[in-house]
Formats: sequence, C-alpha cells, structure tokens
Amino acid sequence: MRRAFAIILPALVLSACSAPLAAPPPPVIPPPEPAAPSSSPSPSPTPSGLPRPGEVRRMKRDGFPVISSVPTERNVVFLTIDDGWEQDPGFARIVRERGIPITVFPTRDAVEARGGQEAGQGWTYVGAGGWPYFKDLGVAIENHTLTHPDLRTLGLEAQKAEICGAAKTIRRHVGRAPELFRPPFGSWNTTTLTAAEECGMRAMVLWTASVQTNARIAYQTPDKRLHPGDILLLHFRPPLAKDFTRLVRKVERRGFSFGDLGAYLDELLPAPS
Ligand SMILES: [Zn+2]
Repeated sequence: MRRAFAIILPALVLSACSAPLAAPPPPVIPPPEPAAPSSSPSPSPTPSGLPRPGEVRRMKRDGFPVISSVPTERNVVFLTIDDGWEQDPGFARIVRERGIPITVFPTRDAVEARGGQEAGQGWTYVGAGGWPYFKDLGVAIENHTLTHPDLRTLGLEAQKAEICGAAKTIRRHVGRAPELFRPPFGSWNTTTLTAAEECGMRAMVLWTASVQTNARIAYQTPDKRLHPGDILLLHFRPPLAKDFTRLVRKVERRGFSFGDLGAYLDELLPAPS
C-alpha cells in the first residue's frame, strides 16, 4: 500500500475505514481455499429484502440526495461493506447461499491490491480474487472512489476523477454502472455532491452504525439500539466470514431482517429530473 495509509490511520478509528497497513511484501497470494465452517444455512426461506408496496414514501427532490438511513417502520436494516481488501471466498459463499442483500462499496485500489499478508495476522485474502470476486458476489457493486482519498482536500475536477473513474472501472469489470456513492471516511463537502451528480450517481449513502470486530455494533445514536432503516457499515477485513455470520445472527435475534438497499432507494429517491 502507499505511505498515505500511515497518515490516514488515526482517522480510521473514527471513520471506521480499514486497510492493510504495511508496504507491499513479495507477492505471495495464497490460493482460495474452503474457509472454516462459518456458514449456517438458514432453515427458513430467504427473505427477498424488497420493500412492501407503500412501505417507503418517495422523497421530494431537494438537491442531491444524501441518505444516512431509510425511512421505514419495518424492522429492516441494510448491510453495506466497504473498501474490499480482504477477498475471503468463505464470505462470498455465505452471501450466495443465504442470499443476504448486501451492498458493496469497493475502491479500485483495494480490489486490485497486490500482495498478501503484509498487514499482519489474519489478512489472508488481500487482492486474492480481484474484480471477478466482487462480480460473482451477485450483489450491487457501488462507488467508493478509486484511491480512497479525503475528498474535502480535493477540488471539483479531482473529485470527479475519483468518482467518475471508479464508476467507469466498475462498469467495465462488473457490467453495471454504479448509482450510489459513499465518500471515503464519510468525508465530503458540497463539491462532492456536484461531482457525484455529474458522474451519474443518484445518491450519496452514509451510514447509521459501524460494525467492528466480533460483530460489535458501534452506534452513532445515544440509545445504542438498532432502528428500522438503519444502514450498517462493515469492511472487508478478517475474519470476515466469521464476523459476518455472527452479525447476521445478532441482527436476526433482535427481530430485524435485511433489506435490499438498491430496491428501497428505488422507491425512496426522487425520479431523475
Ligand atoms: Zn472506505
């Protein structure tokens, strides 16, 4: 990785972004292998994650939409997973088997990472699958820039280079152009909204709570509870399959199911003008 990570690192704790830390080692990439038994097949039919008719009221157009949660009364939350460094085949299998509707916001640099376990213990699948890994997840792949910069430090053209560049890259590799944008570190300004709109994005998506190791949920609300429509932020970091399974159980135990963010936003977002 590049030196900038060392500088950005203190911000990662606050902003819930994560990346491998050290410089690239010799390119030793372990082949994908079956992950530890971490999947628990669901005994019940997989919910579709689609909104019910009339569940979500369309918002009025008032500038470029910025979404932190989805207005619904239903006990549904949305899982979003960022960056894309650790490309664990065990995680991909769980997502496919259970049909859990996640939304992925990868950066090009994470997806195309070269290297292996430089970041220390547990980082086994850095860059192991590349774009095919993300395409084969069978979920929405959305926009999180090319290189994960703090966009507030960049002017319009540089912000557009990051956002439009990522949109083109995703379209080329995944076959579908992204429509949602998430700013790295949750850091953005009004220029970001202009850039995202000019790059063809329909909305900027932030989050309500981030998920840490062991599926611990770090809430941004004082009552420390899940709420209908919450958007949860996870990262592709080890042990992803294990933490994801744990999180799914935890959320389900609390009586929530998982919504398809794209389908909900299709109902919520103003029609393109
Ligand atoms: Zn990120």
